[in-house]
Amino acid sequence: MKAIRVKSHGGPEVLTLEDIPDPKPGAAEAVVKLEAAGLNYIDVYYRTGLYKVQLPLTLGLEGAGVVTAVGPNVTEVRVGDLVAYTGVAGAYAQLAAVPAARLVKLPEGLDAKAGAAAMLQGMTAHYLSHSTYPLKPGDWCLVHAAAGGVGLLLCQMAKMRGARVIGTVSTEAKATLAREAGADAVILYTQQDFEAEVKRVTGGAGVQVVYDSVGETTFDKSLNCLAMRGMLALYGQSSGPVSPFDPAILNQKGSLFLTRPSLFHYTASREELLQRAGEVLGWIKAGKLRLRVDLTLPLSEAAEAHRRLEGRQTTGKVLLIP
Ligand code: NDP
Repeated sequence: MKAIRVKSHGGPEVLTLEDIPDPKPGAAEAVVKLEAAGLNYIDVYYRTGLYKVQLPLTLGLEGAGVVTAVGPNVTEVRVGDLVAYTGVAGAYAQLAAVPAARLVKLPEGLDAKAGAAAMLQGMTAHYLSHSTYPLKPGDWCLVHAAAGGVGLLLCQMAKMRGARVIGTVSTEAKATLAREAGADAVILYTQQDFEAEVKRVTGGAGVQVVYDSVGETTFDKSLNCLAMRGMLALYGQSSGPVSPFDPAILNQKGSLFLTRPSLFHYTASREELLQRAGEVLGWIKAGKLRLRVDLTLPLSEAAEAHRRLEGRQTTGKVLLIP
């Protein structure tokens, strides 16, 4: 089969399309014939080496397609099921062997592209808005990179919970998308001081939670945007990692909470995975949650997809088609 492999860390040019042996299902595994793979910012961290991973590696943590074989002791899926998954490396490929306990059957009416677009970013938006800081009606939240893959879904889910949303984006075109996703106010954080704008919009009160995926360039001011006893959910670092930090600052700025969550700890059990995925996929099917697939490229153009994601040229989801 064909797969995109990383043999050494580096820029998008290290992504190479290779022929490697077809996977066979081990015990408790199923082989999925992938129809779409989701691109996510974590793929960039794996490629550059910011996150430590064993090389060589087939990249990609999100995919969807049809089960073509199952190993011993598989009870969760059958050959022929249309499934989606996240959290298992190897989705930039034509086939993937996946622990069956990580597979979710897609509801009728949703295709593999929707599945590959929903699992990682959708469940991330879900756990941030429903579990890490469960938004209440009337809360203010600040969503950085609001027109991104997670961002557009998080704005919509925050509105579903009755919260008021301030989004940050880098361009006017992205601002329009964030507003369409429900943001009550949008700040062009590349041109405006977002801390001053958040204070202005909230009448000086600040927000109950900041969902910060940008990291290095936003972290300090994100803390300053919080109301007393507010929470900073630092869930990514698209601009670079945050420098070492003195916890006493949380006291000085108003008994704040800081967390650095990961989707994998919010879908660790099969029960939690099925509950979160079920809600996200159900909302998409019911038309309550809109997926925006901005760009679809063949698998062979994975390097170009990475260039655009890192170059802040994408909005919503990017898919690779094997
Ligand atoms: P996005 O679609 O949000 O793309 C990244 C966006 O970040 C860009 O479009 C850009 O938006 C913004 N950005 C700001 N500064 C930079 C910079 N210097 N370089 C590149 N981009 C920048 O990606 P994803 O939705 O896939 O992921 C968003 C973030 O969430 C990532 O940091 C990712 O690692 C994290 N994440 C964390 C998870 C977790 O469980 N902890 C799970 C899923 C994602 P703009 O141009 O508007 O500034």
